[in-house]
Amino acid sequence: MKRSKYVVLFASIFSIAFFIFIFIKNIKPPSDGDIHHRDKPIAEEEQDTLITYKKIENGFIEKPSISLNKDMEEKLSRFRMEASSLAKKFPNTYFTCVDATDKVVALTFDDGPDDRATPRILDILNEYNIPATFFVVGENIKKHPSVFKEIISSGHQIGNHSFSHIRPTDTPTKIMIDDFKKCNNLLDDVISERIKYIRPPYGLVTEDQLISLKDEGFKVIGWSIDSMDWYTKDKDKIIDCVLDAIHPGSIILMHSAGGNDNRKATIDALPIIIETLKYQGYSFVTIEQLMEK
Ligand SMILES: [Zn+2]
Repeated sequence: MKRSKYVVLFASIFSIAFFIFIFIKNIKPPSDGDIHHRDKPIAEEEQDTLITYKKIENGFIEKPSISLNKDMEEKLSRFRMEASSLAKKFPNTYFTCVDATDKVVALTFDDGPDDRATPRILDILNEYNIPATFFVVGENIKKHPSVFKEIISSGHQIGNHSFSHIRPTDTPTKIMIDDFKKCNNLLDDVISERIKYIRPPYGLVTEDQLISLKDEGFKVIGWSIDSMDWYTKDKDKIIDCVLDAIHPGSIILMHSAGGNDNRKATIDALPIIIETLKYQGYSFVTIEQLMEK
């Protein structure tokens, strides 16, 4: 073979090898980077769409998204079952949330008024021009009447959280009803229309108690989202518990008094929760407004 033929043969083999190499390179499995790209979290708009069309009815209560110890897991699981059962059996009297098609949520604050956390929460709500519902305790209205009046003058809704923060399921029905009425008598002095929305301390009543409350014309408001601000002092966990669970028609449980840190974590979490929900297209309503949805 002539030398030129060797050159042509070598060039041909090299070319074929080169094209085979390119071909194999292009059909190799995706790199980690490619996999990461395909499995990336659902885009915000897609998530938004999924949440918007998630069908949620009264009786739904979201499981908190933070890790809890086994005892607390079981306790809260029992709570969700019992609250959900009340809502299903008495759908016009006990509410965990509403089946809203609009992106609306109701922020609710229990246990106030006090003179430490409640004024700061009012400042934040007023700054964002957002209405909320405060389930107030009668004893605390007596201690902090000016803060109570400030809640009303800021345009927020008032709900009844009993006079002395009794645990209904440990209380005879008549005493429980009297305790809610005692709180309502205080509210009547300041608010012209009768308050019909109550939140039982700790969230539950018995079925017999619920029937009695219904006969008295009360509507009982639970929650579908527990911010867990009574459990954790970590503002990021509070934010996660609310934002991970959000859905149209949510009733969100938070606290505006009590706790050994004067609700610092709640106060720190609140602006981030409000801003994120606003960004996601949610608007804020009172319980009364939510019930009309
Ligand atoms: Zn309470």
